[in-house]
Amino acid sequence: MKVLQTRVLILGGGATGTGLARDLALRGVECLLTERRDINAGASGGNHGLLHSGARYVASDVEAAVECREEGAILKKLAPQCIDDTGGLFVAVEGDNEQYVADFPAMCGRSGVPARELDLAEARNMEPVLSDKLIAAYEVEDASVDPFMLSLDNLAQAMTLGAGYERNAKIVGFTKKGGRIQRVGFLNEATGEEFEVEAELVVNATGAWAGIIAELAGATIHILYSSGSLLITQDRLTRRVVNRLRKASDSDILVPGGTVSVLGTTSVTIDHPDHCRPTVAEADAIIDDARAMIPCLETTRYIRAYAGVRPLVMTGQGSDARSVSRGFSLIDHAHDDVENFITITGGKLTTYRMMAEKTADMVCAKLGVDAPCLTKTEPLPPSTMGRWTEPGLGPKSWIGDRDGDDLILCECEMVSKNAVNTIIEHMGPMRGESMLQAIGMRSRVGKGPCQGGFCGLRVTGHLYDRGLVEGHQGMDELRQFVGRRWRGFAPVLWGLGMVQADLQEALYCGALDLELEDDDSRCGGDL
Ligand SMILES: Cc1cc2nc3c(=O)[nH]c(=O)nc-3n(C[C@H](O)[C@H](O)[C@H](O)COP(=O)(O)OP(=O)(O)OC[C@H]3O[C@@H](n4cnc5c(N)ncnc54)[C@H](O)[C@@H]3O)c2cc1C
Repeated sequence: MKVLQTRVLILGGGATGTGLARDLALRGVECLLTERRDINAGASGGNHGLLHSGARYVASDVEAAVECREEGAILKKLAPQCIDDTGGLFVAVEGDNEQYVADFPAMCGRSGVPARELDLAEARNMEPVLSDKLIAAYEVEDASVDPFMLSLDNLAQAMTLGAGYERNAKIVGFTKKGGRIQRVGFLNEATGEEFEVEAELVVNATGAWAGIIAELAGATIHILYSSGSLLITQDRLTRRVVNRLRKASDSDILVPGGTVSVLGTTSVTIDHPDHCRPTVAEADAIIDDARAMIPCLETTRYIRAYAGVRPLVMTGQGSDARSVSRGFSLIDHAHDDVENFITITGGKLTTYRMMAEKTADMVCAKLGVDAPCLTKTEPLPPSTMGRWTEPGLGPKSWIGDRDGDDLILCECEMVSKNAVNTIIEHMGPMRGESMLQAIGMRSRVGKGPCQGGFCGLRVTGHLYDRGLVEGHQGMDELRQFVGRRWRGFAPVLWGLGMVQADLQEALYCGALDLELEDDDSRCGGDL
C-alpha cells in the first residue's frame, strides 16, 4: 500500500483546512491536506457568503462581533479578489421589536462596529426593492465573499510552497501507539485505492464531521449539528447585503453573490452532518418571512436551494442551536491521551484566517518551530485555479480573448471551452477523478438557471472528446453531477423553475435514460 509522509497532516479541505495549509506553508512547515471529496464540500461551500462586519453579533456575542470586524478588515485588504465590498444595511419593518432597534447603535458602539443611521427615504433610494414599511435603517460594513475562490487561492499558494493535496480521500482509520497517532488510513472513493499517511502531527479540520473523526482517533468532542438552508435568486436583487434589524433568527439576510442573491438562512438541528438537505418547507418559510423586508422575494425566480451544517461545540447544556456559541474551538487532544492530534472546528468563514493562525501557532509550539504567522500581513495571491469561480469572468474573457474555435459550453454563465481547458490544465495531479464535479466547483458551470441541464452534457462531451473520461465513467459522473444539482432544484419547483425541470427530465430521462436521482451522499452546496 502507498504510504505518504509529511510533517503535518491536515484533514478537511474547507476554508479552515486550506487556510491552515497556506499558513503552515508560509512558515516553512511541510504539510499535506486531505479531503474526502473536494475543496469546499462542507460548510465552506454551503454558506451565505457574507463577510460579516460584526453587526450581526453585537447583541448575542461581543467577542464574535469584534473578531468579525477585525478579520473582515484584514481580508478586504489582503484578499480583495475574493471580496465584493458591497457594504450592508440593517433594516427593521413595522412589527419588529422597537426596543432592539433602539438599542442597536449602542450595541454596535460597544463592539466598535461602525453603523450609520439612515433616513428611510435614503435607504429606499439606495435599495429600491426594500419594503415601504421600513421603520429604521443603518448602514454597516458588510461585504460578500466568494468562498470557492478563497479556498482555492489559499490552496494554490500552499501548493506553490510545497504543500500536498489529496482529494477523494476518505479517512478510514487511525493506527496508534503509545498515545500517538502513527498512521492515518485513507480510501480514495473514486478509484478504490487505499493509502496511508505518516505524520508528526494530525490536525482535524473537518468542520461538522470533527466529532466523528475525533472519535475514530480515540478522542471526544460533543457537537450539535445545525443545518441551515439558503435560496439562490436568478438575478441580483440588491447592490448591498441586506440584514433584518432584529435578534438573530431565520430568513434575516440577503447577500448579493455576483449575478445572483442568496437568501436565508434557517437553523434546524439534525442528527448527522451527512443528513443535511434543503426542504420545501424551509424554502416556503424563508420566503414567507423575508418578504416583509423585501416584498419582491415573493415573486422572484429562485434557481436553487442548498444547505450547510454548522458544528456547534457543546460545552454546557443548552439544546437550542441559536443559543450555543458560534465561536470556534481549538482543542489539543493531549488531554484525551492522543498526543499529536489537534481539532479546529466551528467559527465562521469570516474568521477562517484567524482560526488557521491560532491552529498553526499551536502546531508550531508542539513541533518546536519558531516562525511567525504571515497571513495577517501578506496578500493572498490570486490564482488561476480560483479565478474561474468569479461570476461574469466567463463572458468578459470570451469576448476579450476568444479565438475562432472557442465554443461556449455553459450558456447561462458563458463558460467557454478554453476556460474549461484552462481549469483542466491547472488541476494537475488532481486530473482523472470526478472531473465534471471538480470543473463545476472551480467554475460557474452548472450554476445558472439551467442548473447543469445543458452544460453538464456539453462539458461531459468535451471530456470524452479529450479522452479524459472513457466508457461509462463520463455518464456516471454526469448522473452524479445532475443528481446533485437536482437536489437543490427540487425545493424551489414552481413557475419557470418547474418548466426548466420538465425540460431537464425530458433530456435526462427521455433522451439519455438517466434518472434524475437525488444524490443524497453529498452535503454542502454551491453558491
Ligand atoms: C447555512 C450556513 C451559512 C453560513 N453563512 C456564513 C456567512 O455568511 N459568513 C460566515 O462568515 N460564515 C458563515 N457560515 C459559517 C462558515 O460556513 C463555516 O464556519 C466555515 O465554512 C467552516 O469551514 P471549515 O473548513 O471549518 O469546515 P467545512 O467547510 O465544513 O470543511 C470540512 C471539510 O472536511 C471534510 N471532511 C468531512 N469528513 C471527512 C473525512 N472523513 N475525511 C476527510 N475530509 C472530511 C468535508 O468534506 C469538508 O470539506 C455559515 C454556515 C452555514 C452552515
